[in-house]
Amino acid sequence: VRVEVPVSEHGINPALLDDRAVKVVTTLQDAGYEAYVVGGAVRDLLLGHRPKDFDVATSATPEQVKALFRRAFIIGRRFRIVHVVHGRGREHEVIEVSTFRAYLDASAAEQVAGNEKTSKSELAGKSHVVDASGRVLRDNVWGPQDEDAARRDFTVNALYYDPRRQIVVDYHHGLADARKRLLRMIGDPVTRYREDPVRIIRVVRFAAKLGFEIEAGTRKPIRACADLLANVPASRLFDEMIKLLQTGHSLASLEELRKQGLHKGIFPILDAVLDDAHQHDGREQFIQRALADTDRRVGEGKPVAPSFMLACMLWHDVLRRAAQLRAKGEHPTAALQAATDAVFDARIGDISGRGKLAADMREIWLMQPRFERRTPSSALSLVEQVRFRAGFDFLRLRADSGEVDADLARWWEEFSTANEAVREDLLTEAR
Ligand code: ATP
Ligand code: MG
Repeated sequence: VRVEVPVSEHGINPALLDDRAVKVVTTLQDAGYEAYVVGGAVRDLLLGHRPKDFDVATSATPEQVKALFRRAFIIGRRFRIVHVVHGRGREHEVIEVSTFRAYLDASAAEQVAGNEKTSKSELAGKSHVVDASGRVLRDNVWGPQDEDAARRDFTVNALYYDPRRQIVVDYHHGLADARKRLLRMIGDPVTRYREDPVRIIRVVRFAAKLGFEIEAGTRKPIRACADLLANVPASRLFDEMIKLLQTGHSLASLEELRKQGLHKGIFPILDAVLDDAHQHDGREQFIQRALADTDRRVGEGKPVAPSFMLACMLWHDVLRRAAQLRAKGEHPTAALQAATDAVFDARIGDISGRGKLAADMREIWLMQPRFERRTPSSALSLVEQVRFRAGFDFLRLRADSGEVDADLARWWEEFSTANEAVREDLLTEAR
């Protein structure tokens, strides 16, 4: 049932809303469509937090939305949505607008999939397709708001907020669950995990981020369903892992993964980190520090780069492989280069954007031995590297975790900020 909750009950502070998100909603409403702020933003507003981004749900189709805004772009295939863009450069902001979608259970979806084979063009852009395990491959059938709510994952993620009337629309007792700080799957959890196994990772991420409990019925099937994650494309799993580790709650997320028995066998990168066989090479401490640092930076609103975090996660793997190659007689530089390539392929593999990511990680790793050579020419050329800062931050983490001498990091800190005269002194001192 549809419940409209007034401000006296939900208590959302309108000052936490973003003007541009409100404008997108009201523009759609003025054009005669239904439109609401939806999902994580409403959840954050209820908890009194300022949302970092805003999603809008509407009865307008992507084409109808696009027609109302100057800078609006239809994107996505599995999931066609519209990006309404404001501002430019670093300050630019994207409001994601999605059309209300129908909820199709697996059998209805198979029927659509069957039809699609015979008349592909007729259903183009309106399809909902599942694979043999019930996983939804595409999902673009428009529907009413109640169905849009039913196909969302957790009750606290299925709330709609109308900033004009200041009401929250709630179909699944999401408001009550938010008060109880509970993550509860909408519908039958096993079915919903089958449709999209990534929901297993999402529930862990939200539990860590929000400090919510996972409701018993939602929690119980997690372990048994974890095998389904093997069907999820590697690039989507990789994106989810980045979200786990880079949205400011990485340590809490790892803790929650452990608690649910999901820390092994799912993410190759975590397998590299949590491998018991190498507990005593200092990697745990190094990674703890790196992640604590990342969480702190995110908390302070500073940017974080996946390449840096991943370089940290895989560093000890690189060191171990390089040592093996050196033991076979390989030259240290060649050994390090070969190890970086091997580790990237083994743990990250074929994801989108891999070229740039691999290059950035390799640069951080290959810079490390150069910090040991403090001759005038090599020191000067190192500080002038565009990515010196990333390489140096990495060195400092190594020093903090006892892998290299703390004095070395201190020396580079001074050298990189010193004037020419002081640099000369430092170089003499290092000789
Ligand atoms: P965050 O604060 O991390 O962005 P969010 O709840 O906004 O959290 P998004 O991934 O941005 O998460 O998704 C927006 C909304 O879309 C969710 O709140 C949820 O309603 C719906 N949604 C996203 N992914 C799924 C999914 N895999 N299954 C069902 N619903 C989903
Ligand atoms: Mg979001």
